[in-house]
Formats: sequence, structure tokens, C-alpha cells
Amino acid sequence: DASVTRGSLQSNGEAVPENFRVEDFNLSTELEPGQVYVRTLYLSVDPYMRCRMNEDTGTDYLLPWQLSECVDGGGVGVVESSRHDSFSKGDTVTSFNWRWQTYDVLDGSKLQKLDPQLVNGHLSYFLGAVGMPGLTALLGIREDGHVTPGSNLTMVVSGAAGACGSFAGQIGRLEGCSRVVGICGSDQKCQVLVSELGFSGAVNYRCGDLTAALKKHCPRGVDVYFDNVGGSISDAVIAQMNQGGHVILCGQISQYNKDVPYPPPVPPETQEVLRSKNIIRERFTVLNYMDKYEAGLLQLSQWVKAGQIKVLETVANGIENMGVAFHSMMTGGNIGKQIVKISD
Ligand code: NDP
Repeated sequence: DASVTRGSLQSNGEAVPENFRVEDFNLSTELEPGQVYVRTLYLSVDPYMRCRMNEDTGTDYLLPWQLSECVDGGGVGVVESSRHDSFSKGDTVTSFNWRWQTYDVLDGSKLQKLDPQLVNGHLSYFLGAVGMPGLTALLGIREDGHVTPGSNLTMVVSGAAGACGSFAGQIGRLEGCSRVVGICGSDQKCQVLVSELGFSGAVNYRCGDLTAALKKHCPRGVDVYFDNVGGSISDAVIAQMNQGGHVILCGQISQYNKDVPYPPPVPPETQEVLRSKNIIRERFTVLNYMDKYEAGLLQLSQWVKAGQIKVLETVANGIENMGVAFHSMMTGGNIGKQIVKISD
């Protein structure tokens, strides 16, 4: 069996594949009562993991990964054998704390059973569209977006070609925004957003004048901003916002390689725009809405099955590529949700 452990990294700086190491080990499959033996199918790499690579994660709900210990995150797998009443061989299961191992033996109380019908058998969707990123987009918009259908609202999404962003844009439209404009890091991604995901427009922040492009795509200003990135991109969007607008503060990935508190402070000029235009900028944390997960996942499943949300994924293969996939996602190598396939 193989597992991935964490090497050392400065809190200021980009994480690289070499921060991770793959080790072989022998896993005993003798089960104690209550234990389950699982095979890993898919693992998730997510931006919050960058914070877990620091001794101080900067947030109270995230613990640091310990040096030289197996790291963990979202995962989906299949039960190989079980001594827990709730699980049987062949069940599809998930956990937010799935160890980056090809196989594992764990306490059944740490697992949740999944219904493959919810995703038409696309089990990796449980880590994306019908999982934590989908819930983040849906609940972020419903809790903090104040989207009212028919009121001709314009939504801007940053990090728009990533997991949360690609769902947020599509959900913004489904919930009633009349214009949805995405910001992302390449022309190819912009094209996908408009031609495949139904965004009204898209802007590549790496080329040209972002402010001018936003003005062109948002002629009536910006009412709702789903912010995945923070930094100067968000300053440019907030400067275009209308009176009484809402910022859904989902993430600030442009700041995650810096040793700053979360959420990082905004410059005084942006602060002044927020104040003078009465814009509410609320920090959103999906973990605070666990009571809404079940209904949210059902809604997401229905939209995906009906083709109302299109799901894009970038899939890497093999546990030895976890570090490569993490680094690629952090530097924009993914369109849609970055997944790592571990076994068939
Ligand atoms: P993504 O799939 O969006 O992958 C990350 C993307 O971020 C990359 O593809 C890259 O795309 C973009 N990016 C990287 N660096 C920068 C930069 N300096 N400036 C602008 N864009 C950058 O990841 P997720 O969908 O999983 O996460 C998106 C955001 O949502 C993150 O900030 C994350 O922390 C947050 N999040 C928050 C949750 C919550 O509960 N609040 C829950 C889940 C996620 P590009 O090519 O466009 O640069």
C-alpha cells in the first residue's frame, strides 16, 4: 500500500510537489469490531490545504498537517470488508478526512455512505458538483448573495473556471441573475465559460485592463460578487459595484501563499467603496451550514442530472501524483474540479 506524507514548507511561499513524499507501508486488514477496510477511488486537492501546510493554519477550524505523517482531505472509496453494522462490502463511502492512502482501515463512525444514483455513477462528482465545492457555491449564493429573480442583477465570479467558481456562475444564473460574468486566468478558460457553461461574458485577468473589461461586460455595474481570489482582482470588481451590493467572501486564493491572517485586510480605497455604497461583504464558510447539506446535495444532484449544471473536471492519476495535482490546481492548471483518480 502507499501513503503520502508532508515535508517542510515556509509559510510564505508556493507549495511544490516536492513538499510531499510517497511511502510504501504494510496495512493489516484484520478488523476490530466497528472498523471498515476501504479502497480509495478518488481524492480531492483543495486550496484550503495550503493553510494546512503551515504550523498555524490561520483559521480555528483547520488543523495543520503534521510533518512526516500521512495527510488527509476529501476522498471517496469503496468498502472492501466491514465489521461495522452500517457498512457492507461494495458500499460507496466518503469522508472529509480521508487519508491519502491507496487503502485504509478506519472506524466506521468516520465514514458517510453515499448513494451513487445521486451522481448517475460519476462517483468523483461527490468531491465536486454534488459535494463540498457545489455546496459552497449553492449555499454561498443562497445565504449571502441576496439574489432576487427578475431584478436584473449582474453577478461577477472570480476564480470562475475552478470548481466553486464554475458552479457559482451556473447557480447564479439558475437563481435568477440576468448577467453572470466570470474572471479567470486564460483565454481558453474564458471560452469554456461562455460557450459551455453559459456565462454571459468572461475576462482573462492575466491580460489587458481588467477594469475596462469589467465595464464592458457589466454595463449596469455589479450587484453580486462571488469572490474566490481576493487581492487586486477583487479590488477592481468592488470598485464597479452598485449601491447595496453583496460580496460573497468565499475564498482569497491569491493570498494563500502569504503569511497573512484570514481574511486578509483590504486596502483603504476598497474599504471606502464598501462603506460609502453600503456593500455587505460577508465571510462565508460552508462548514457553518451542515444542517443544509442534505437538501443542498439533493438540489445539486437534480440540477446535474437534468443537465442544468454542467460539470467540468480535470483528472490526474495515481497517488504518486497528489503533490503534482495540488500544485497544478494552486497555479491554475485545472478547468473545473481537480480530482485525482487512485483506483478503478
Ligand atoms: P479551484 O478549482 O478554483 O482552483 C483554484 C484556482 O484558483 C486555480 O485554478 C486558478 O485559476 C485560481 N488562482 C490561483 N492563484 C490565483 C491568483 N493569484 N489569482 C487569481 N486566481 C488564482 O479551487 P476551489 O474551487 O476548490 O476553491 C476556490 C476558492 O473557494 C478558494 O479560495 C477556496 O479557498 C474557496 N473555498 C471556500 C470554501 C468556504 O467554505 N468558504 C469552501 C471551498 C472552497 P486561474 O487560472 O483562473 O488563475
